Amino acid sequence: MKISINKAHFPVSVLGPGKRLGIWLQGCSIGCKGCVSQDTWAPDAGRDMTVAQLLAWCRQTATGGFDGVTISGGEPFDQPQALAALLDGLHHWREACKLDFDILCYSGYPAATLQTKHAKLLLMLDALIPEPYIDAKPLTHVWRGSSNQTLLPLSLRGHRIYTPCLDMLSAQADKRIQIMQDGDRVWYVGLPGRGDMAALESVCKSRGIELTDVSWRS
Ligand code: SF4
Repeated sequence: MKISINKAHFPVSVLGPGKRLGIWLQGCSIGCKGCVSQDTWAPDAGRDMTVAQLLAWCRQTATGGFDGVTISGGEPFDQPQALAALLDGLHHWREACKLDFDILCYSGYPAATLQTKHAKLLLMLDALIPEPYIDAKPLTHVWRGSSNQTLLPLSLRGHRIYTPCLDMLSAQADKRIQIMQDGDRVWYVGLPGRGDMAALESVCKSRGIELTDVSWRS
């Protein structure tokens, strides 16, 4: 089974609790105004890998222990069969190795739409953060990009881990963004506040660094 991936990273500590494997799927048909991840929108067959390869990366990368897997995008539910295969593989790994990691997934689709179209996939998640990003609504709660987005624990494990965090504010988190360098590419993970990326560009410019091909503008 092929899956189209924008990137995968470990450790991610700003999209869910603890130290996490982060997987970003490529391709999003929703197109929220103000999306800061526009590099994930276009379907790109050049970014295909097999689900087996991705699961092997997870197993090799997290040997020192981890708390969870965060699946984001792009829009994960735009690849429902690949997402099902990935979730199936994660469940097998968790059960076979007696691990206790949680699986959190983001989606720009409303929860009601996902419940109608992808109920079986929701049964394989511990927690879901649905609803489109709305730029006009503030970033308020931890792990959510705009105040309309909800955090829904879906499993017993999900309730144990996420229910205590439902009202936690973004300002209470240690950090909201991680920044990494890969050759001449600098990329970030997380949920910037309104104006954060413009401020970052401004600071870089004042130091003689021009950011090109940024993901927060088309
Ligand atoms: S915020 Fe998410 S769902 Fe919305 S356009 Fe960006 S990647 Fe797609």
